[in-house]
Amino acid sequence: MTYDVIILGGGPAGLTAGIYLSRGGKKTLLLEGIEGGEAARIEKVENYPGFPEGISGSDLVARIREQARAFGTEIRSEEAAALEAVGEEKRVRVETEVLVSRSVIIAIGTHPRRLQVPGEKELFGRGVSYCATCDGPLFRGKPVAVVGGGNSAVHEALHLAGLASRVYLIHRRDRLRAEHVAGERARSHPRVEIVWDSIPQRFLGDESLSGIEILNKKTGAVSVIEAAAVFVSIGAHPRTEFLRGVLDLDPEGFIVTGENLQTSMPGVFAAGDVRVQDFRQIVTAVAEGARAAQAAENYCGVMSPPRRR
Ligand code: NAP
Repeated sequence: MTYDVIILGGGPAGLTAGIYLSRGGKKTLLLEGIEGGEAARIEKVENYPGFPEGISGSDLVARIREQARAFGTEIRSEEAAALEAVGEEKRVRVETEVLVSRSVIIAIGTHPRRLQVPGEKELFGRGVSYCATCDGPLFRGKPVAVVGGGNSAVHEALHLAGLASRVYLIHRRDRLRAEHVAGERARSHPRVEIVWDSIPQRFLGDESLSGIEILNKKTGAVSVIEAAAVFVSIGAHPRTEFLRGVLDLDPEGFIVTGENLQTSMPGVFAAGDVRVQDFRQIVTAVAEGARAAQAAENYCGVMSPPRRR
């Protein structure tokens, strides 16, 4: 077999699995899509232990990546298109070839969810964005909006408050889902206005976004917020279509795992945000990467000795 373990995903979970496996002498390949995954887009991570001043997501992931490489993890910029088990082999198909290993760890994270309202697709890249850290500086001094009430939306709103003239945080309920501390910062920020109980109905504009039509769910009133950009931050979903019919997934496509992060296919483990769970943090992704690595290592150890190819 070419590899002991193939890891899918180059975020904190996958990279940490790489550190543990390579350090343990396992021949490990990591396939990454977007370098560093979603964590690399976080402007400042304040709750990862060991960094009392905080650290940017991209710096943190770059360090973990360097560590994985230093121990010998081979990293390729390629995404898996299919996975199958043939006897004791796991076969991972990428664009031009089929890669073979004893075990696989899936840590492909999630991607931003779309609102699915008129104008969202048409104005994407012209005022509609899913990443304030990436696109926020384009709207310096202008009014912008963020949609969502979770940690990501609140962090995006606070980041944008340092750039934009005004930030409207549009949330569908009358209570934020975000952690108390972050929520309080948003509530008390002079440039952040929280628009409660409201859902966007359409994004307006021809060449670029000019405003957002919102519906107040409690009063039924429809109004328009003028904004040069809207950052949609309503959670994330996994891109696990290639695993449908291969592994047990929940209705939203998250991977179901059992003991030791084992999926429904023996020798295939899942770690981090792609797994069914209710607490998605960098620190938990890192911990799961280490656990999945140990489980994969144990699995390799109980398999029959490798055949010569
Ligand atoms: P999330 O926690 O699932 O929050 C999604 C938000 O979007 C919720 O407020 C939800 O409203 C709203 N929403 C969902 N669908 C909507 C729709 N169709 N229309 C309007 N609003 C909609 O997602 P997240 O904020 O991206 O966070 C994902 C995970 O990462 C969470 O576990 C979060 O704690 C974690 N995270 C942590 C940090 C940190 O520093 N600790 C930072 C970022 C993310 P409802 O509240 O009404 O459901």
